[in-house]
Amino acid sequence: MHFLDQAKIYVKSGGGGPGAVSFRREKYVEYGGPDGGDGGRGGDIVFVAVEGLNTLIDFRYTQHFKASRGGHGMGKDRTGASAKPLVIEVPVGTQIVSDEDRETVLADFTEVGQRVVLLEGGMGGRGNASYKTSTNRAPRQHQPGIPGEEMWVWLRLKLLADVGLVGLPNAGKSTFINAVSNARAKVGDYAFTTLVPKLGVVRHKNREFVLADIPGLIAGAADGAGIGDRFLGHIERCRVLIHLIDISGTGEQDPAEALQIVEEELAAYGEGLEDKPRLIALNKVDLADADLAAEFAAELREAGAEKVFAISGATGAGIDALMDEVLQYLPERTRTETKGAEREGPDADGDEDSPPEADAWSPL
Ligand code: GDP
Ligand code: MG
Repeated sequence: MHFLDQAKIYVKSGGGGPGAVSFRREKYVEYGGPDGGDGGRGGDIVFVAVEGLNTLIDFRYTQHFKASRGGHGMGKDRTGASAKPLVIEVPVGTQIVSDEDRETVLADFTEVGQRVVLLEGGMGGRGNASYKTSTNRAPRQHQPGIPGEEMWVWLRLKLLADVGLVGLPNAGKSTFINAVSNARAKVGDYAFTTLVPKLGVVRHKNREFVLADIPGLIAGAADGAGIGDRFLGHIERCRVLIHLIDISGTGEQDPAEALQIVEEELAAYGEGLEDKPRLIALNKVDLADADLAAEFAAELREAGAEKVFAISGATGAGIDALMDEVLQYLPERTRTETKGAEREGPDADGDEDSPPEADAWSPL
């Protein structure tokens, strides 16, 4: 499958802290020996694969990752503190790809908990104590720390849908997916020939999920051999389906008919699709007669549909409530806060190398 989420990020490990120049000062000792400690190690850049992340959407907001410097060496032979590694959490399935050829895979995360040190922090510099020799008892030499390493890399992730979008042609699926996600689906384009599901990454209430418009499901999908294979991964992963029904009164079918046709298609499609929970979204309420919409919603509820929402993909009405409900079906994120230092937003350091935002996170 080739549905990719990707992001370009900048990573820099911490430089080592400088070594100290210091001499002992003691009562009754006129010339104390050198006691400047070494600098501490800079922080590593570490990636770890975690559970509960589905997308790379966070990297749209944070593109620069810099680990902290090591601490300064100090007198009394004290070594500077080593900086903590900067741990960057990514979803399982993420690959780190070189920015140079956009091909070389630097790391491949296949299981939860996998850790990769991409860049090591610089060594701390030597303090003057370590330069003491029999001929030079009061050295003033010391080293600055070794600078950190920096690079741009691409993160890539194959996406699987968490939420499926179904509905008859013209129900408003493309409009909806465009309204709620980063996808740019063609509105009014209902060619069944395309078997590529349109995926979009949705961020709602600080959570994220992948929504798929599954084309070819409807209108004879059952006889479209091979479709099942292509979508199996997506369908297996889907926790809930959103079923869009046009209630504007301008559609070919009346809403009850539309509902039935799609339900039959879901059953015919098999692969467990018909067992997924569904949220029914009565769409295009901006065009619909309000009484009629309410009446139809009541009818559906009576017929056993538990979750019925009235929305408009065009105006955004009702979408928040629908998305709140969708979240109830998705596993909670189990990620911990990213540990480390200086996790920066896109322009926080005014870095001229910063990629323009639009380029840094490409839609699917
Ligand atoms: P799809 O075939 O299910 O992908 O439906 P589209 O998103 O292509 O929409 C079909 C038509 O309905 C287009 O002309 C859209 O502009 C229109 N449409 C979709 N959603 C809404 C809505 O909420 N309100 C209104 N007024 N029109 C909509
Ligand atoms: Mg469409």
